[in-house]
Amino acid sequence: MKYAPVQNFINGKFISSTSKRKLDIVSPIDGVLLSEVPMSLHIELDNAVRAAKNAFIHWSKMPVKERVQVFFRYRNLLEKNLQPLAQLCSEENGKTINESIAEVEKSIELTEFACSMPQLIAGEVLEVSRGVECRTEHAPLGVVASIVPFNFPNMVPNWTIPNAIVLGNCMILKPSEKVPLSSQKIAELLKDSGLPDGVFNIINGDAEIVEAICDHPEIEAISFVGSTKIAKMVYQKATHNYKRCLALGGAKNHLMVLPDAMPDMTAQNIAASMSGCAGQRCMAASAMVGVGNVDAIINKICDEAKKIIPGKNLGAVINQQSKERIEKYITEAEEQGAKILVDGRNTKVEGKENGTYVGPTVIDYVKPEMAVAKEEIFGPVISIMRVKTVDEALEIENANPYGNAASVFTQNGGMARYIIDKASAGMIGVNVGVPVPREPFSFGGWNESKFGTGDITGKSSIEFWTKLKKSTIKWNPEAGVNWMS
Ligand code: NAD
Repeated sequence: MKYAPVQNFINGKFISSTSKRKLDIVSPIDGVLLSEVPMSLHIELDNAVRAAKNAFIHWSKMPVKERVQVFFRYRNLLEKNLQPLAQLCSEENGKTINESIAEVEKSIELTEFACSMPQLIAGEVLEVSRGVECRTEHAPLGVVASIVPFNFPNMVPNWTIPNAIVLGNCMILKPSEKVPLSSQKIAELLKDSGLPDGVFNIINGDAEIVEAICDHPEIEAISFVGSTKIAKMVYQKATHNYKRCLALGGAKNHLMVLPDAMPDMTAQNIAASMSGCAGQRCMAASAMVGVGNVDAIINKICDEAKKIIPGKNLGAVINQQSKERIEKYITEAEEQGAKILVDGRNTKVEGKENGTYVGPTVIDYVKPEMAVAKEEIFGPVISIMRVKTVDEALEIENANPYGNAASVFTQNGGMARYIIDKASAGMIGVNVGVPVPREPFSFGGWNESKFGTGDITGKSSIEFWTKLKKSTIKWNPEAGVNWMS
């Protein structure tokens, strides 16, 4: 085993779980055994919640300007440790080192946003009647939990940790059991940044501990990022228990390509969007709808896809099960009459024979009713459908139950605006293959890609992680009679 077994992090200390149930952590890159992760016990969750509750007493009372000082230091430590953090992220997730560097850089950007919180959460005050003022303040919720997926081991935890904690909450993080190593480093860096014990805790585990989190009476709010099936389950369970919940789910992002799109830029963007992080992004291009004659662009997409080499500029998918699932989708589409223009099945990387790679795959003449057109594949695969009009393209996009992102490629501003208005997705790109809003804009989809109110990052997250306190104050009772007296 390359690394020590994964531990929980409770009250500022790494503690080994006493659970007998453990899972191996195997690198998707080459099949090397990296570590093992415990499926923690309920009592361990209770200990973490107790630590967080105790820490909340002091942490929540600190002025936000003091709380952010910890995160200025954390931001600098992320930057200082960028290379080793990226290396670890690559090893456990399978993505390339450049993608991992970009991921940690995004964590830095998220932390910088949290450091601007004092400027963002200043409340309001108004003299509402003579001698009487109303004011608002953002109060933290208490102990909160963040449950995260495998595809961004460093960035997605940092979607929630800096904002929730700077806003005065104390957190329990439940990392993905497939990639728990990056979170261990995050805990170390937060401790080195001077975060008081108990403010941030990690409990490792799988479905069982997620259910215990949803049922825990002393957890006030839960953020979840993962597949739609589990997002729905977590949202239902958490809100049934009267908790605040924001649950982000899966995606099927449509790129609508108009005949006037700039061929080179469009092809490069689409190939990069469908294959980046081996297609394991909730923002990945998954379905392309070509309007009219876009043959030249499709040819260029194939040329670009062929430049993407597994093991070089294309990482591995998370495990063998995932590789088989993706290849099955491709085979089914082929059997149903779609044409495989670039085929990523049966990919082996020399020297990394135990890695789980799928090459870039371009499937043309896909019909809207096929599974590859409708379902989230989560691999480096693009399914191309062809239609005659923009409205037909929008009909396909609108009919899909997800609604994370959609993009349009065109040089016609009016047409782009039309698609922005009509697409049923939370994040829209114009000539952008991966339309992730950068800070301070917030991240979040629509429809079956998100359950709950508000977004998970940016300004919108402030409403999720805090509650408003409204005070009405009379400073000068003898100032004369008014309607409030
Ligand atoms: P997943 O739903 O399998 O797991 C997410 C979390 O839920 C993990 O921590 C896991 O331990 C837990 N979990 C798994 N099964 C569970 C169960 N039965 N009951 C309770 N908890 C359970 O997701 P994943 O495979 O880790 O991640 C990929 C998915 O996440 C994709 O669908 C992707 O689109 C989605 N995702 C969405 C966003 C977004 O912003 N919308 C961002 C990243 C990933």
